[in-house]
Amino acid sequence: MRAIEITGEWSPREGSRLSKDEQAGHWARNAADAWRNPRWTVVDRPAPDLIRPDDVLIRSRAVGICGSDVHLYETDASGYVLLPYRVRLPLVPGHEIAGEVVEVGPAVHNVRPGDPVAVQTLQYCGRCDACRAGLAGHCGEAEDRGFNLDGGMAELMISRESNVRSLAAVRERHSERDTFEIGALCEPASVAYVGMFLRAGGILPGAAVAVHGCGPIGLAAVALARAAGAATVLAFDTSSSRCKLAEELGADAAYDVVALRAQGVQAADVILENTHGEGADMSVEAAGAAGAILPQIEGSLAVGGKVVFLGSEAGAVPMQTMAYMLRGATVHGSIGNIGGLDPVIALQASGRIDLRPMVTARYDLEHAVEAVERASQRQDAKILILPNG
Ligand SMILES: [Zn+2]
Ligand SMILES: [Zn+2]
Repeated sequence: MRAIEITGEWSPREGSRLSKDEQAGHWARNAADAWRNPRWTVVDRPAPDLIRPDDVLIRSRAVGICGSDVHLYETDASGYVLLPYRVRLPLVPGHEIAGEVVEVGPAVHNVRPGDPVAVQTLQYCGRCDACRAGLAGHCGEAEDRGFNLDGGMAELMISRESNVRSLAAVRERHSERDTFEIGALCEPASVAYVGMFLRAGGILPGAAVAVHGCGPIGLAAVALARAAGAATVLAFDTSSSRCKLAEELGADAAYDVVALRAQGVQAADVILENTHGEGADMSVEAAGAAGAILPQIEGSLAVGGKVVFLGSEAGAVPMQTMAYMLRGATVHGSIGNIGGLDPVIALQASGRIDLRPMVTARYDLEHAVEAVERASQRQDAKILILPNG
């Protein structure tokens, strides 16, 4: 089968503390500590076989390119990849996956060949403290397809049945092609869902929500806030085309912060003006630029406001703690999609949200390296690879 393969040089950084297991197995919990000079190529690979009785063989139909994929493509000045996450190379990337079931093992009950499915890539252990506390998305022993197990950017892939979600309800409403594209978009949307509703506890109908950063996760946050009954949804980005998408996905208004700055206006002013001075009941940081955005969030907190961090920002940023104290505000960190995929698929199947406008480019597998190069220019919302046309 054809597949994208990432190879690289195993070269642990001076002073990096890799476990014996990582050293012996050539994998790293923090890829940026060990993997250098990554190379993305489209290659022939043997098709995967069903091994476990609960394995499902899937023909990949739509796979999103995520910022974390781009961080396995880009490097720092010494050639190390930028992604601080578990990675084993060589690897088939791709963790925002939808496809159709081709074959199932004897213990599989819930899906059959021909079914459209989305794949939850994280395989958590179920035994550790995080898993037992119901926070399996934070499992320290997890394996993750597209990172340390082969993912979806290939003609075929394997998943356990417990990690496969049927898209049959989406298919009832949409064409086959749209069903797979929606299925791939459900992963980044689930990341927003988990942060806003599971970690932060959600909003009440009538709330005001401000979303800072309109990449796919921010755009999904806009759609989810609207679906959850927000009275006011305001979005901010540095790209006017992404602002337009935010309005298409349900923002009452989206503002180009570069244009605002040129007029001497801050995002916080806009939020206060649109909420009669009350501020945002929920502020979502989905840009990975907390250094620039936190002062705007702190200047526009409603009393009892919630702040949700979804963007990855490697460095430390100053925080005005008094702003949170005076407003009785809370801060919620979140990562991953565990618990978000089923409700997002249901919302998409019922028509309460429609994520399709966020797809800005599509590539076939043979041109996938061009696709990731384009993603690295950060002008698009979501770029999809369609591995089987
Ligand atoms: Zn991702
Ligand atoms: Zn665990």
